[in-house]
Amino acid sequence: MKAPTSTAIFGTWVLADAGGGPEVLRDRWVLVEGRRIAAITVDRPSAETILDAPGRFVLPGLLDLHNHGFSEAVARTHTEDGGGRHKVESIVYTVLLPLTRRGIDLLTHEERLAVARLSILQLLKGGAATVMEPFRNGIPEMFEAAEEMGIRFYGAPYLFSTANAKAGADGRVAYAAEAGRSDDGSADLAAWNSLHEKWNGRDEGRIRLAMSPHATDTCGPELLRACAARARELHAPITIHLAQSAGEVETIRSRYNKTPAEYLDSLGLLAPDLLAAHCIASSDSDLALMAARGTTVLNCPRVFARTGKRAVFSRFAGAGVRTAIGTDGYNLDLLGEMNAAAMISKVVEERGDVANAPEIIDAVTRTPAAAIARPDLGTIRPGATADLTVVDLTHPHLQPLHDPRRALVWLANRADIDAVMVDGRLLLAGGRAANIDENAVTTAGTAAIRRIWDLPEAQAAFNS
Ligand SMILES: [Zn+2]
Repeated sequence: MKAPTSTAIFGTWVLADAGGGPEVLRDRWVLVEGRRIAAITVDRPSAETILDAPGRFVLPGLLDLHNHGFSEAVARTHTEDGGGRHKVESIVYTVLLPLTRRGIDLLTHEERLAVARLSILQLLKGGAATVMEPFRNGIPEMFEAAEEMGIRFYGAPYLFSTANAKAGADGRVAYAAEAGRSDDGSADLAAWNSLHEKWNGRDEGRIRLAMSPHATDTCGPELLRACAARARELHAPITIHLAQSAGEVETIRSRYNKTPAEYLDSLGLLAPDLLAAHCIASSDSDLALMAARGTTVLNCPRVFARTGKRAVFSRFAGAGVRTAIGTDGYNLDLLGEMNAAAMISKVVEERGDVANAPEIIDAVTRTPAAAIARPDLGTIRPGATADLTVVDLTHPHLQPLHDPRRALVWLANRADIDAVMVDGRLLLAGGRAANIDENAVTTAGTAAIRRIWDLPEAQAAFNS
């Protein structure tokens, strides 16, 4: 990609860190030189590119640490309103994993790349500057698309002990071993290592890998220990799905007589470098354990709201657990997810004062940055990495406006995203992707997903 130059962006409001945590500054310029924020000034600085539109809210580049651009695209508009469920509580093992797997085999390299590009386009247009993306290791195209499109990318290729877990007619998941495959996950660890070798650190560290054992019920103790050891050797973050359904809790109880969190703790995984997605079936004592261990919960409320389930931001945050907000691939709209996290928390707790706007904004800025040990991200201060998200607060639906943080969480939507900068490069400006033909990317990605929808097994999964 083209080397970053210098850019000055005017914010009517700038969420900057003046040393005591984030605060909203009025009428400031953010000067970016190369890949770093150089200064925050009152006077207009000189720079090669000047963005000086009025009414902009300049935020740190938002971080979305849990997304699946491929598997959820397969399910989109098929699985709302109770669709595709067949009395099964979770569609992870009935729809998402098997159809993604078939899709990977069916699609060409160009088609897989098209799906990856479409998801990154959606993420950028939703305001994300960083994404952590767990995906099956047969889609290296996720890395290719991230590299060419400029987003900050933590690719998290899955590791499984049981990669072909399937739900039966009774809704119970069977974890059958595959012919010719060892259940220690060594093949997936080898694949992860070779992807790490190829991709980690590209473009001065913009592209990285996270270790990604899929879930507690699909990964045995031997694999989980090996994952943790390898990740810690490389200082890579570890991410996993944890307590995402009651079925998973039952499975882990019957195998080990532990909760999923206790299972991970017994293997040494529950630690500050672990990012655990969902945790909706965690007990209160699990949350206390996670808080004590410094583990992060990745809260993705809308994918669960789709099925009438609660994933309550304030429950995790209120238990003292570090809690970040992610999109889980559902609609790749971080602003919408923030609104849902705030709204669902208040409704469930029947209190207006929980999950307030500053807390919710922290959950997509400095909280996820801390979770991946990146104090240079999620903050606007001189010397920080130049990742920024700029929101246009001049639209009629945002006026009148007293508090820009509350406006962002309660009134704004993804169509208000004006600019996204990563490493000093403007990837989105004026709400449109720079250097990307949005129509071509959308058409090609959609056509590829439609080929998966046309499969007989997809028709059966969705339509009966
Ligand atoms: Zn997930």
